[in-house]
Amino acid sequence: MRSTQIRSTFLDFFTSRGHRQVPSSPLIPSDPTLLLANAGMNQFKPYFLGEVTPEFTRATSVQKCARTSDIANVGRTNRHATFFEMLGNFSFGDYFKADAIAYAWELCTQGYGLEKDRLWITVYEDDDEAEQLWRKIGVPASRIQRLGMEENYWSMGVPGPCGPSSEINYDRGPAFGREGGPAADSERYMEIWNLVFMQNQRGEGPAKKDYPILGELPQKSIDTGLGLDRLAAILQGVENVCTTDLLLPTLKTVQELAGREYPGGGEEKVSFQVVAEHSRSIAFLIADGVLPAKDGRGYVLRRLMRRAIRHACLLGIDGPVLSTTTASVITNLGEVWPELADHSSLVERVVTAEEKSFTRTLTQGSRLLDAAITHTRSAGSASIAGETAFELHDTYGFPVELTIEAARDAGLTVDEDRFVALLTEQQQRAKARGKSRTAEALRRQDAYRELSARHGSTDFVGYDRLQTEATVV
Ligand code: ATP
Ligand code: MG
Ligand code: MG
Ligand code: MG
Repeated sequence: MRSTQIRSTFLDFFTSRGHRQVPSSPLIPSDPTLLLANAGMNQFKPYFLGEVTPEFTRATSVQKCARTSDIANVGRTNRHATFFEMLGNFSFGDYFKADAIAYAWELCTQGYGLEKDRLWITVYEDDDEAEQLWRKIGVPASRIQRLGMEENYWSMGVPGPCGPSSEINYDRGPAFGREGGPAADSERYMEIWNLVFMQNQRGEGPAKKDYPILGELPQKSIDTGLGLDRLAAILQGVENVCTTDLLLPTLKTVQELAGREYPGGGEEKVSFQVVAEHSRSIAFLIADGVLPAKDGRGYVLRRLMRRAIRHACLLGIDGPVLSTTTASVITNLGEVWPELADHSSLVERVVTAEEKSFTRTLTQGSRLLDAAITHTRSAGSASIAGETAFELHDTYGFPVELTIEAARDAGLTVDEDRFVALLTEQQQRAKARGKSRTAEALRRQDAYRELSARHGSTDFVGYDRLQTEATVV
């Protein structure tokens, strides 16, 4: 089944059951606590919290999601991408557990024709009701597993609605891992669909696991997320999310640029997937208005671009790559996601500029990195100096995560504390410099004001210029 049909089957199923079809929200969320959209429920957070009452009580969507937290998994697991599409159905105080479970089961087994015997269910450890509902639908107890907070209690990663969840996992067979259900092997028993029974609210805390559960939501709701990329891998009989029709054309473009076949030998398979997969995230992020920057979302984008460029280099691709690979993403997905086609020239300009500035230093930086790895090893140490990571960051534009990753591949670590200390020192110096430059700009602004008051109104451009200067500082 092609991905277009997987999407339409999902949306048709739920619209014909009274769900309003809502477009994806942009990757830049309106929620200030969230860096990038990471789930279909994000845009409905105020509905779940009872802050806003929607005109409808049931919704369905295909949401663009970005999860940088999965970046290191790309190419290493079959199931993780940094950008993916999440198919979802939602109930705002309308139906709850029983219907959510019945809908999901019907769609999986009848709509998508997944074999019942291959489906394994997980439920939150205390959720007897969910287990009973699955049993009633015909899932044998031997294929239902109970898992704890970490796996089966969903929250956004920021304060907001949350609740116990129940997940549908697909057994890909012994070629993908060991037996024992999703609790034993999450690659063989790939999680495809998460049903969240939204009933509580989480407050703030230092780390996700410390967020306190504050109490009940005003009403019980449903939030579900089915990974399009994962379901496509299953229904198209391919190994991983990068070889589905969502990404295969881009993977082929990478093959052509590299002049060799996927998967290649050794680590090349990972590099092929990284370049193709990151190219899609890059295109979607830029099309939604993210531009490369030193921090925040812009840093996520920069990190993805630089990582993709480095992996292209590891494949022996000489010369620019991202403009070609992102163009392939746009050709392949631009019809379903028109924002890609609408912003194709912006995507091209941004990736070309970034690639130009990074490739200038990539070779020298890689040489320094390789030398540091050799040096660290021969000195009998397991950790690359923080100074080296800082120089790679500061002089060669290597995001520190890239250095850490290369070190890890070589069996080493990076002295991250030292790196952070050096970075903080540098930032403090820059801040101090910035302050004195702002003060100087304001002094000059006063002087211009005085001048203009003395000479009356003229075509005076000083304020604009000074203002620009002041913001750049
Ligand atoms: P996993 O445990 O495999 O990392 P998850 O529990 O983090 O997945 P959820 O937060 O429950 O995932 O998201 C709902 C669904 O979105 C998942 O069941 C899966 O189908 C899909 N999904 C999640 N993360 C990714 C990803 N990085 N790439 C592709 N699809 C994903
Ligand atoms: Mg995950
Ligand atoms: Mg999971
Ligand atoms: Mg999950």
